[in-house]
Amino acid sequence: MEGKLRRKVVVVGAGPVGLAAALTLKARDVEVELIERDDRPGTHSYALALHPKTLSLLREWGVSEELEKSSVTVSHLAFCDENGPRHELDLSKVNGHDSGLLIVGQDHLEEALVRPLERAGVKLSWSHRLSTMQQDEDGLDLELERLSEGMSGYAMARLEWQVDKELHTQADYVIGADGHFSMVRRKLGIEFPNVAPTQSFAVFEFKTDFNHNNRAHIVMGEEGTSILWPLPGGYCRWGFEIEESKAEQFSRDKDRLFVQVGAHGYHVLETQMLEALIKERAPWFNGSIGQFRWRMIVRFEKRLAESFGKGRTWLAGDACHLAAPIGMQSMNLGVQEGHLLAQIIADVLDGKSGADQLEEYGASRLKEWRSLMGLDVMMMETAVTSPLLARYSDRLMECIPASLDTLGSFADLLGMEIVPKE
Ligand SMILES: Cc1cc2nc3c(=O)[nH]c(=O)nc-3n(C[C@H](O)[C@H](O)[C@H](O)COP(=O)(O)OP(=O)(O)OC[C@H]3O[C@@H](n4cnc5c(N)ncnc54)[C@H](O)[C@@H]3O)c2cc1C
Repeated sequence: MEGKLRRKVVVVGAGPVGLAAALTLKARDVEVELIERDDRPGTHSYALALHPKTLSLLREWGVSEELEKSSVTVSHLAFCDENGPRHELDLSKVNGHDSGLLIVGQDHLEEALVRPLERAGVKLSWSHRLSTMQQDEDGLDLELERLSEGMSGYAMARLEWQVDKELHTQADYVIGADGHFSMVRRKLGIEFPNVAPTQSFAVFEFKTDFNHNNRAHIVMGEEGTSILWPLPGGYCRWGFEIEESKAEQFSRDKDRLFVQVGAHGYHVLETQMLEALIKERAPWFNGSIGQFRWRMIVRFEKRLAESFGKGRTWLAGDACHLAAPIGMQSMNLGVQEGHLLAQIIADVLDGKSGADQLEEYGASRLKEWRSLMGLDVMMMETAVTSPLLARYSDRLMECIPASLDTLGSFADLLGMEIVPKE
């Protein structure tokens, strides 16, 4: 890199993790540039439950109040079979949890995080894509593409993103919060292997009069795990784990529409599929099925990066881990690690810490994720485990809103213990 820069960090990706990192850097008086290839924050609920630790960060950033106004709270997890709840977990009893889960759509979360950045005058470059980067011991050179919408196609004209300008920028450090297909991770040559089988979920969000009683209902059965979340405004989300072949069977009719999320097309699912899944797995669900606002099949890969960064470039969030959806771990722990990484980089830039702290960040994050993904430890039944949880003990770790420091407490409350994996 030509010439030594002072105190500038480029954050790639304005998802919740990149936004969290940018807010933390700004609070530490570090110059931040946030680069996002899309032209606005996300538009769907995606990861909709905030863990207590994420909520306390939002309080620190002064954005929790507006979110809390339009949210609902989950105080208990109810583990169910086809006959109803079999084991309840009171989230207020988890060590280190001072509250339950706050249910807020990811779209609202992202919008709430963007506002203070805009107010603080942080450079937020929407429609800018990182195309390449090079690092040396002094810093980084990055090439960006500015995107604009244009018409293309001959027989059928369609709107698509085109590069209208190429730009160059420099930074002391880069945070790669650019999601599952991270360009930053790929540029570093870091492998991102599958660590467990992919799961597919049929997801339905609709209005209902079901009385959730502040519970998230987790239904365990031979067909897979299903989850019922209460949502603000009288809506709910059912997510049913399904086999891919079954998804195909329900998606063959000609009149089905596609919805577009990012670059991906998803089938819109039929009400009849929802009714059949409820009848099969949760006949106790006595709520009405009202207006739909979102229904689709989503695939969740489970991947873990072999390292979380090197030199002056470090990763956080989906760029380095993809977890199962029910415990909402990938986004929540991602926001927390975006914050942590930004603090460490600010400390290094302030001369308060050495660069070895970044290596420590990578090692500790990897250790936490290896545990949560069941690669190093597992949950084992004890004499007091309920039969339902004992039967599906291998699925429990991914269903709980845990981090490494709360895993033991969750296990106690489930009547399980954490043991090293052979
Ligand atoms: C349909 C759907 C349903 C989901 N449901 C759940 C769920 O039920 N539970 C759960 O836990 N999780 C769920 N998730 C996953 C959850 O949304 C992610 O874990 C979360 O968004 C991760 O946040 P992130 O900031 O790490 O990455 P992202 O939110 O993916 O943000 C990354 C950002 O980087 C940008 N970007 C990528 N490449 C570049 C580049 N080269 N230059 C500039 N910008 C770039 C992208 O446009 C994106 O905005 C769901 C996701 C989807 C798509």
